[in-house]
Amino acid sequence: MKVASTKLNIDVESIRKDFPILSRQVNGKPLVYFDNAATSQTPQQVIDVIVDYYSRYNANIHRGVHTLSQEATDAYEQARIKIQEHFNAAKPHEIIFTAGTTHAINLVASGFTTLLKEGEEIIVSTLEHHSNIVPWQMLCERTGAKLKVIPMNDNGMLKMDEFDKLLSEKTKLVFVNHVSNALGTVNPVKEIIEKAHAVGAAVLLDGAQAAPHIKADVQELDVDFYAVSAHKMCGPTGVGVLYGKEEWLQKLPPYQGGGEMIATVTFEKTTYADLPHKFEAGTPDICGGIAFGAALDYMNSIGFNNIAAYEHELLEYATEKLMQIEGLRIYGTSTEKTAVISFNIGDIHPYDIGTIIDKLGIAVRTGHHCAQPVMDYYNIPGTVRASFAFYNTKEEIDIFVEGVKRAKNMLS
Ligand SMILES: *Cc1c(COP(=O)(O)O)cnc(C)c1O
Repeated sequence: MKVASTKLNIDVESIRKDFPILSRQVNGKPLVYFDNAATSQTPQQVIDVIVDYYSRYNANIHRGVHTLSQEATDAYEQARIKIQEHFNAAKPHEIIFTAGTTHAINLVASGFTTLLKEGEEIIVSTLEHHSNIVPWQMLCERTGAKLKVIPMNDNGMLKMDEFDKLLSEKTKLVFVNHVSNALGTVNPVKEIIEKAHAVGAAVLLDGAQAAPHIKADVQELDVDFYAVSAHKMCGPTGVGVLYGKEEWLQKLPPYQGGGEMIATVTFEKTTYADLPHKFEAGTPDICGGIAFGAALDYMNSIGFNNIAAYEHELLEYATEKLMQIEGLRIYGTSTEKTAVISFNIGDIHPYDIGTIIDKLGIAVRTGHHCAQPVMDYYNIPGTVRASFAFYNTKEEIDIFVEGVKRAKNMLS
């Protein structure tokens, strides 16, 4: 992202004290955690909320008359409102709790089974995570709809002129990620949404990789669906949300049947509960939902503008240092990107670099990052991916760059 370099309003040393895991050692070395795009770390403030839930008011929600159940229900519904406010959804019941982004996408893909006809078209992008490809392929198999793909260029940006050519009155759905997890590219989502709406198509944005860095405003974007995971934004694993415009959520059929999602049940006919409960069958991750709310509070207390500006500094610093290593190529050089650096050195296998620097206490991701079409585009098996968060430092980047140099010397 382009951010004016202003004085930083971020006190990294005190932030780091909030994260107990950052003071541990790995293989005898201080941990350098650069795998934030896979999952972020959890501050004590969120851990405390989890401990407090199980210590004081663990109970099933929505059904009980007793005090604990009411306390748990209140906290869970307050978390929903926090999430609504964070993403600026118009109504709390447009926020559906899910097990994460993957679950949210599958909920929509499943719902469209009855809304799509043979010959209609769905557009996805080359930059997608597998969780944003496979559910649509399955949907096409069920309905006879066709999947079209927006190609990308060498910088890891979508070819928007090709997107224009794919759009037609046959297009019913467009699915792209807001930010690519493999390359960090920030996609021109506003333009995509406007163009898709112009032909009458709905848009789902996979916000998993954007939400930790960019505060999306779903009303301003005018997006139809937005999916995120808590664990990439300082919250726990296994919980996330689907934002959906009310009119769409009304149209979609329920995803799973069970308790919580019904109004009345007889063997002749079951009627469904109102939103959001229609999509929330069974006992959810109550504690996880509450902790997600606490994670948003934590990140908002630092401020998303501060986070974006600081991470951008880390990105520029690391890019410059890495580029000094001979033979190193960075994949994904969009002008708009989050703090993700995907790279290879010559033909050294990314896995070998990852393994060596793990011995030095440095955590990065290696492989195809659940985005094989991107790797195929570059004709590589995978990359080394370093992804930064607001609690990382330039000193850690120095340690990492030295580690990469050492790995290169050992392997070439
Ligand atoms: C992590 C990620 C997902 C999957 O999220 P889960 O929490 O595993 O469901 C989907 N899309 C993108 C872009 C991601 O980064």
